[in-house]
Amino acid sequence: MKDLDRLNQLTESHGELRPGHGMISGVIALSLAILCFLGVLAFHFPEYLTTPQLRKSYNVDVMRQLMLGALVLAGSISLYNIIRGRARWLALGAFTLIALTLALGGHKVPVNDFADGTPYIGLDWFILDLLGSTLIFIFIEKLFALRKHQPVFRPEWQTDFHHFIVNHMIVGFVLLATNLLVHKLFGWAANDGVRGWVQNLNFFVAVFLIVLVADLVQYWTHRAYHEVPLLWRLHAVHHSVKSMDWLAGSRQHILELIITRTLVLAPIYVLGFSKEVIDAYIIIVGFQAVFNHANVSVRLGPLRYVIVTPNFHHWHHSQDDAALDKNYAAHFAFLDHLFGTAVKSDREWPERYGVLGDYVPNGFLRQLAFPFRWKG
Ligand SMILES: [Zn+2]
Ligand SMILES: [Zn+2]
Repeated sequence: MKDLDRLNQLTESHGELRPGHGMISGVIALSLAILCFLGVLAFHFPEYLTTPQLRKSYNVDVMRQLMLGALVLAGSISLYNIIRGRARWLALGAFTLIALTLALGGHKVPVNDFADGTPYIGLDWFILDLLGSTLIFIFIEKLFALRKHQPVFRPEWQTDFHHFIVNHMIVGFVLLATNLLVHKLFGWAANDGVRGWVQNLNFFVAVFLIVLVADLVQYWTHRAYHEVPLLWRLHAVHHSVKSMDWLAGSRQHILELIITRTLVLAPIYVLGFSKEVIDAYIIIVGFQAVFNHANVSVRLGPLRYVIVTPNFHHWHHSQDDAALDKNYAAHFAFLDHLFGTAVKSDREWPERYGVLGDYVPNGFLRQLAFPFRWKG
């Protein structure tokens, strides 16, 4: 029971994890064990726990190998820590979960034919994106750190991780909702002549155009979120992060997510871009949305007037007077220079992030309720 309490505390603690005590390796082993456990559940119930659009694009055998590797790695780490008495309670937690995963069939669970069109949560998307993002972005952040002393498990990481989990799990619902809304609201605007022209464009021209169109919509939507008080209630949640890193961008109210996606996808749908171009856009937006928040000292020299960099978006999150309601673009910085909303500061990086007055509460559920409760 005492060990369970300690595990519980771990998800709430705010301190930095120090190397040399089996804590960091223990957390890695436990995280991998949790992902393996979720993975085995997804093997058993693919119709409810995997994303139809996503599962077409990966090979299940590769997933099995990946899971086997993770099981072996997490198992060895926790065994070593148990034997050496390093944070034994943590290692035992991971080990128990690995045993449970193996008891449920581990990486060998056969996947039979299953029904399509069932309601689902995107567990596979969550597992793969969490693995991929942590590996890629923590590596980049260590290599090009802006704030070198900011730990990976910095204050309020739990809140942002909670947003990350929920946003990923409901990806299916969000896709469905935005798809329906886009077709219902903007179906009338589709024109065969324009769509034919767009589909014949050179791939790179089309990618440039899709990002430009998406960012133009994103710019004005984002600006409205700042300038219309009712919308600011939703967007304030995103701005309440006080530590910028790859996880910080996940903090976003779910309604904002749906509204913005619908509005950005509308012109993309109306203009009729090809699947390859849309896929390229999804990769670009997926990377940039995370990277722009990352704890990296990337400014790109003169290119920063063209492309949105972490520096550009960090300023958007700054509490400085000179930066309030500025730097709205998500891809092309020149949009803000064009519309006169670019931050002009003689300092390179902002000092403090967050909402002036710090009135947004911490915690996922409180932030979900915040727009409806705030009396400001
Ligand atoms: Zn904003
Ligand atoms: Zn942001």
